[in-house]
Amino acid sequence: MAKVSINIATGSLLQEEIIVGIDLGTTNSLIAIVKSDTHEPIALREIDGLTLVPSIVHFDEYGNVTVGNPAKDLLVQQPERTIYSAKRLMGKSYGDVSKDSGFFAYNIIDDGTDALVKVQVGDKFYSPIELSSYILKELKKRAEHILKTTVTKAVITVPAYFNDAQRQATRDAGRLAGLDVLRIINEPTAASLAYGIGVKHNEEKTIAVYDLGGGTFDISILTINNGIFEVLATNGDTYLGGDDMDNAVVRYWQEDCGVDNSSLGLGSHTDKSLAQEMRVTAEAAKVHLSTHDVFEGKIAGQDVRITKQDFNELIAPLIARTINSCSSALKDAGLTASQIDAVVMVGGSTRVPAVKEAVKQFFGREVFDGINPDEVVALGAAVQADILAGNNTEMLLLDVTPLSLGIETMGGLMDVLIPRNSKIPNKAGRQYTTQKDGQSGMRISVYQGERDLVQDNRKLAEFNLTGIPAMPAGLPKVEVTFLIDADGILKVSATELRSGVAQSIDVQPQYGLTDQQVEDMLLASLTHAKDDIKMRALVEALTEATQMLEVTEKFIAKHGDVLSPVELTASVTQMERLREAMESRDKDLVQSETERLNEVSRPYAERVMDAALKDAMRGKKVI
Ligand code: ADP
Ligand code: MG
Repeated sequence: MAKVSINIATGSLLQEEIIVGIDLGTTNSLIAIVKSDTHEPIALREIDGLTLVPSIVHFDEYGNVTVGNPAKDLLVQQPERTIYSAKRLMGKSYGDVSKDSGFFAYNIIDDGTDALVKVQVGDKFYSPIELSSYILKELKKRAEHILKTTVTKAVITVPAYFNDAQRQATRDAGRLAGLDVLRIINEPTAASLAYGIGVKHNEEKTIAVYDLGGGTFDISILTINNGIFEVLATNGDTYLGGDDMDNAVVRYWQEDCGVDNSSLGLGSHTDKSLAQEMRVTAEAAKVHLSTHDVFEGKIAGQDVRITKQDFNELIAPLIARTINSCSSALKDAGLTASQIDAVVMVGGSTRVPAVKEAVKQFFGREVFDGINPDEVVALGAAVQADILAGNNTEMLLLDVTPLSLGIETMGGLMDVLIPRNSKIPNKAGRQYTTQKDGQSGMRISVYQGERDLVQDNRKLAEFNLTGIPAMPAGLPKVEVTFLIDADGILKVSATELRSGVAQSIDVQPQYGLTDQQVEDMLLASLTHAKDDIKMRALVEALTEATQMLEVTEKFIAKHGDVLSPVELTASVTQMERLREAMESRDKDLVQSETERLNEVSRPYAERVMDAALKDAMRGKKVI
């Protein structure tokens, strides 16, 4: 609950802001907090007693938006206006999802395969970010209603396999919903946090998180060492979950019990409501069978029945697929089942006893299932939120770099030494060399950001490494080291290894950078990703061309007498062509003209080398 304290000097009330934990699920979403009195994480419960909000958004003809259970009720009646599983579309281009488009009953827009997908409802278009933001807005509204205070700060969970674009999209959805997203954390990490596994100092654990939700299955293998979580391997099936169990039950009733449209004598206009009733009844049967041996109900007045044994047979192939994934994940992590210290059960579908049994058997141990499996991720997010709020000093703060850190290299390119989201403290180093003969200094410019050209990133610091002894280009070895300490202070040092000349500087990486700026920079890196790749390729081609021109010029100046007049003219002409190509900034042209200059100069360069070699051999004989 929100904390209130009184400023004794002024007598005014200070309300400490609460940070909530949110599980933004494919099927269901929910919000949780850590109670300030008991320090226990709890899922927020509305008056209706429910904690889960189905991740479903309905748009009516007038633009009204409904989220959650009321939207779920319209799923079958108005499929083209009722959006489910928007999470599957987060950060995806149409090309990414086109092969799965049959899964979606609503309209996914194809406006070029690289563009981010949009969903069309009537004459309006919605991005997955907007769709998710409606769900987050609903959760925020609920939390504010229950807590009777404003809620603006949140920790949101995502699957461990989510890439940067998907994480960024989730962050943006939060922002659009009016939430300041303090951190995005992995769902399996949150689940382990909820159980308090591996969060004590000096504790090292390897855990498996088995997450079977409504439509997706994820298995993650993590290690937790001193409060730092590392994902060793993930596996799963993005189209396997409780929905498939429901469908299996529907098919069973259709095939074995003859419950279908014709047997019920219903016209096609009621097909949709019948389908809806079958689906709802099948799910109810499945849930009932988690705690009972038989389900008996009615669909459109006709009796239906299924036993636990029948159900277990129906879902055995589905469970087998999840176990296969578990075994692949273990293999990828280079571990055997016996090396796993704890197995955590996540997702509503792990309530099915046969699922639990299969997992216990595969890992050969009892599983952690004491916490409500469809709340455990949100509860863990709340625990993380509580750590961020500074209320929980028992647990370690897991910190990462918000943006990549690197230095400027030839052609103004960003060379990343510590990628974003790296753990803090951290250390990284790389060797560089000089571009010119006798170069005695090297400028080290430190940048922060995700773009390929430093000019688009943020400069943090700059210093000169001076006093490098005169050596031919390429010979000095300058090692640049980045060290981020536990407080997030970056120390950059440069050492010329042959001479031992060294220089260093301290940088405060996040100084003056607001969350907003960090987000803007990340957003820019996403929107410009394609331009950046093209630009990097061009800069690299130009750098290579410049070097080729310099080398050829130097060579002709020194060994001009070895070249025939034809060779000289060919070289000069080709050098001119290359310069023109560089002007045009056409990467392919620059590369082909560089290659041609290389071909023109190769014969005489080889002759000179052969001659030098012969001289050397003769010299040796004399001695
Ligand atoms: P997601 O992470 O995909 O949002 P959840 O973890 O909320 O999904 O899981 C939803 C699934 O769990 C649904 O298919 C639902 O029918 C199923 N489920 C919920 N409770 C039970 C139960 N008691 N027995 C079997 N399945 C259940
Ligand atoms: Mg989930």
